[in-house]
Amino acid sequence: STERQKMENNHQKPHALMMAYPLQGHVIPSVHLAMKLASKGFIITFVNTQFVHHQITKSHHHNHGPEAEDIFVGARKSGLDIRYTTVSDGFPLGFDRSLHHDQFMEGLLHVMSAHVDELVGKLVASEPPVNCLIVDTFFVWSSMICDKYNLVNISFWTEPALVLTLYYHLDLLRINGHFGAPDNREDAINYVPGVRSIQRKDLASYLQANDSSTVVHRIIYKAFEQVKKADVIICNTVQELEPDTLSALQKKQPVYAIGPIFPTGFAKSPVATSLWSESDCNKWLNAKPNRSVLYISFGSYAHASKQDIWEIAYGLLLSEVSFIWVLRPDIVSSDESEPLPPGFRDQIKGKGLVVPWCCQIEVLSHSSIGGFLTHCGWNSILESIWCCIPMLCFPLLTDQFTNRKLVVDDWGFGVNLRDEESVAREEVARKIRRLMTGGSADELRKKVTEVRTALDNALGPSGSSEKNLNDLIDDLKVKIA
Ligand code: UDP
Repeated sequence: STERQKMENNHQKPHALMMAYPLQGHVIPSVHLAMKLASKGFIITFVNTQFVHHQITKSHHHNHGPEAEDIFVGARKSGLDIRYTTVSDGFPLGFDRSLHHDQFMEGLLHVMSAHVDELVGKLVASEPPVNCLIVDTFFVWSSMICDKYNLVNISFWTEPALVLTLYYHLDLLRINGHFGAPDNREDAINYVPGVRSIQRKDLASYLQANDSSTVVHRIIYKAFEQVKKADVIICNTVQELEPDTLSALQKKQPVYAIGPIFPTGFAKSPVATSLWSESDCNKWLNAKPNRSVLYISFGSYAHASKQDIWEIAYGLLLSEVSFIWVLRPDIVSSDESEPLPPGFRDQIKGKGLVVPWCCQIEVLSHSSIGGFLTHCGWNSILESIWCCIPMLCFPLLTDQFTNRKLVVDDWGFGVNLRDEESVAREEVARKIRRLMTGGSADELRKKVTEVRTALDNALGPSGSSEKNLNDLIDDLKVKIA
C-alpha cells in the first residue's frame, strides 16, 4: 500500500510541460505564466526552441554578463521548481525564419511535433511524471500528443478573448459570407456569440484575406478545431475587460482569464526573455520632463512600408514632440537598408532617440513617457495600460486590427493614427499632439488610468484574475487526479 500511496502522491503532483510559440510576443507571457503556476506549487518543465534559447542567451550575455545555459536559474533561486530544456524547430540556427515564414511555420507543424512527442515520451516516465501539457493555441499538434500520453490538455491563448472568439466561430463567418468567399459581405458582423457587432476591417488580417488557402490559414483551421478539444483554455486577458465575450466562450468550455500575465511589480524579471540586445534608454529619458516623450514600437515581427515610416518620421518632426523610436533593422523588409528618410538621424539630435530594441516595459514605466505609438500587439497594449500610457494605434498585421478596435472604439484610451489607408505627415503630427498635449491627452489618460485600476484590482487578493487562477489550479488538480 505504501507503493500505491507513492504512486498516488506522484500522480497528484501537477507537473506541466510548457512550450512557448517561438515568437517574442509569445515567449514573454509563456515564461511569466510558468512563474505564476510554479508559485502556486506546480512543477514546470519549460521548453524553448533552440533558436529562441540561442537568441535569449546571446542578448542576455550582451546586456547582463555571463551566458545562462538555463534561463530559469534565477527563478529556482527563489524556490520555484521550473526545469528547462530545448527542442529543435527543425531548422539550423542561421536559417532566416522571418524571411521564410511559411516554411518556418510548416516546420513547427511537422518536425517540431515529432521532437515534442519524443520529449513527452521521456517526461511521462520521469519522476514525478508530466501530467499536463500547456502549449500555445497555435501549436496544432497539442491534442494529438495529449491523447497519446493521456495528459490534461491546456491551451494558452496570448491574445484578447475577442480575437479567440472570432477564430473559434470561423464556421459562422463562412456560412454567413463574411469569410472565405471571393466576394465577402462587407456589412457588420453581429451574430457571433458574445460579440455585439464588429466590422470586417476589424477582423484579424487572416480573416480579412480573400485568399483563404495559405499556409497560415491551414494552421488556423487546425488550431481552432483542436482548441475545442482542450480541457482548459488560459487567456492573457481580464474578465472585466471583455465580460460578454468571455462569458459566451465560457458557456462552451472552461476558459480562465488570468491576465495581465507579467511581473507587475516591475522589479526586473529574474528570467531573461528578450530575443535581442536591449539599448539602455534610461539616461536619455531621465533628462526629459514628465510625460513629454512619445514611445514608438511596432513590436517584434510586423513590417511597415517605407512610405509609412517616412510619413511618421516627418510627422514626428512637425509635431515637435520628443520620442524614442524602436526601429528594428528589418522593419521595412529583411534587406536591412536604412528605413529612415535621408538625414533624419542627424536632424533629430536631442529630440529623438532611435534604437533597434529596448526593454519596453522599463521604458513605458519611466515617468518621462507620455504616449505610445503602437502596432497594437496585445502584450504592448497590456503593458501600456499597466503604465497608464494612452496609445496612438497603427495596426499592421494579424490580431492588431481587432486589438485596435478594443483600444479605440470600445475602451476609449487610444487614437487612430490613420483614418484612411495611407498615413500623411500632417495627420501624424496632429494625432501625436492630440495624444500628448492639452485636454485630449488628459481625457485619454483618465480613461487608461481607470482601466489600469481594473487590472490592478483583478490581480488583487479578491480580484477576478487571482480567483480565476486559483479556480484553474483546483480544476487542473481534479483533472490530473
Ligand atoms: N518588446 C521589447 N522591446 C522592444 C519592443 C517590444 O521588450 O523594443 C516586447 C514588448 O514589451 C512585448 C513584446 O516585446 O512584451 C511584443 O509583443 P506584442 O504582443 O506587443 O507584439 P508582437 O511582437 O507579438 O507583434
